[in-house]
Amino acid sequence: MSLRLTNTFSRKKESFTPLKKDHISLYTCGPTVYDFAHIGNFRAYVFEDVLRRYFEFKHYRVKHVMNFTDVDDKTIAGAAAQGKPLREFTEPYIKAFLQDLETLNILKAAQQPRATEEIGGMIHLVETLVQKDAAYLSEGSVYFRVDSFAPYGRLSGKSLEKGEKRSRIDHDEYGKEEANDFALWKKAKEGEPSWDSPWGKGRPGWHLECSVMSMKYLGSTLDIHAGGEDLIFPHHENEIAQSEAATGKKFVRYWLHCKHLLINGEKMSKSKGNYYTLRDLVRLGHDPMAIRCVLLSVHYRQQLNFTLEGLKEAGEAIKKLDECYWKCLSIVMLTQKKETSLASRSDFDQHAKLSKCVADMVTAMEDDLNVSVALAKLFEGLGEINSWFAKERAVPEKDLCAAIYFFKQVDLLLGFDISKSDSVPNEIIDALSQIIDSRRQKDFAKADSLRQKMNMMGWFVKDARPGEPSTVKKKLRAWDQ
Ligand code: AMP
Ligand code: ZN
Repeated sequence: MSLRLTNTFSRKKESFTPLKKDHISLYTCGPTVYDFAHIGNFRAYVFEDVLRRYFEFKHYRVKHVMNFTDVDDKTIAGAAAQGKPLREFTEPYIKAFLQDLETLNILKAAQQPRATEEIGGMIHLVETLVQKDAAYLSEGSVYFRVDSFAPYGRLSGKSLEKGEKRSRIDHDEYGKEEANDFALWKKAKEGEPSWDSPWGKGRPGWHLECSVMSMKYLGSTLDIHAGGEDLIFPHHENEIAQSEAATGKKFVRYWLHCKHLLINGEKMSKSKGNYYTLRDLVRLGHDPMAIRCVLLSVHYRQQLNFTLEGLKEAGEAIKKLDECYWKCLSIVMLTQKKETSLASRSDFDQHAKLSKCVADMVTAMEDDLNVSVALAKLFEGLGEINSWFAKERAVPEKDLCAAIYFFKQVDLLLGFDISKSDSVPNEIIDALSQIIDSRRQKDFAKADSLRQKMNMMGWFVKDARPGEPSTVKKKLRAWDQ
């Protein structure tokens, strides 16, 4: 494989090879489900999705695990504020998150464990660490002894100050031997959700949750662990310490982190209140694929400043792809005059220029997921297809099929879902033929009434320039009306 990725651990672009031939194990830190996710969170999930799509495009079998953090300070506080049991409070946010993933066409992870359903494994890992003297019990909580793990700080590059014994006055964690030690297991507080453990009632620490859930489903050593840059320290640093101290094996081979999504130059975050949820933007009339396009448009290792103007531009770009795809599809369907699903076809014609664009997109993705170059190649392909229509009255069917195939390849790689619908029902093709005939015979009243009928059925007719047939598309997008 010629993929190169920037490993946060080495701070270098490294050649990527999976541990197990043709298989990739991928763990991505999932949401803390105390509210709707904002589009900053989705920058991380879209970046991870693009990474996964690259592997699947190259026929790797990706085992992808994404957790739900459904017990931590924020979820507990949220549930208490609403007077609900924890699960009743988190459930709607889990559902909403899964819907949002679908809206953004983000592939679902094979496993989506919830922290609250994995408590047994967490207790077991803490017991192992206590046995190895890497952890200690104090005042009903168990802490990881950072001093016991020599490579601590390697991921984040932080060197920890010593001599701070008991110096940190933290009302939650006053039992720590060292300020840098962190809680693996937290003693239950009055009225909070808790589980039985060898150390009394309590709940897991957030970092522990991810170590346990990733290793349970993917084994002690994972190929890739990814998240936003804010997770490098302390979350991922602590995950390394507790996992490696327990197993004695390398925990993660490639650490990938995306930079933040900013708004007005500041990190988008719940605590600052400067965020849009996906739902906010969809309600404002923005197409989800335009949002996806914005989120992936800038290299994952660069910050991305979100603006509504940028989103509008991305909408225009997606609209151009969408229109071109439907134009090709309707003409092919009209020519064939029958409802055939192109999904079942494997004999797509190739077109040298379009194939080259796809090959260039893949090469760009192999260079540390260089999406900017990949997008430029995509629009080069679009320009090529549009130039056929500009030059020729009747574009050969084999070229139109090659164009459809091009969109399908692009969708596999970038997930814009342009080619999601790839057949047109017979009655729609018939109606479209009649519209074209009526227009030819200048019977515009008939053409209009047919058009209205199609509209009611959820189809949208686009008139063509002189000499070109009208085309049709299903109403799927924000701009289809
Ligand atoms: P959380 O629900 O806070 O645990 O975050 C879920 C994911 O979103 C993590 O991978 C975070 O690193 C990521 N994240 C949070 N805020 C941003 C942001 N403004 N830009 C990019 N990623 C973010
Ligand atoms: Zn995590």
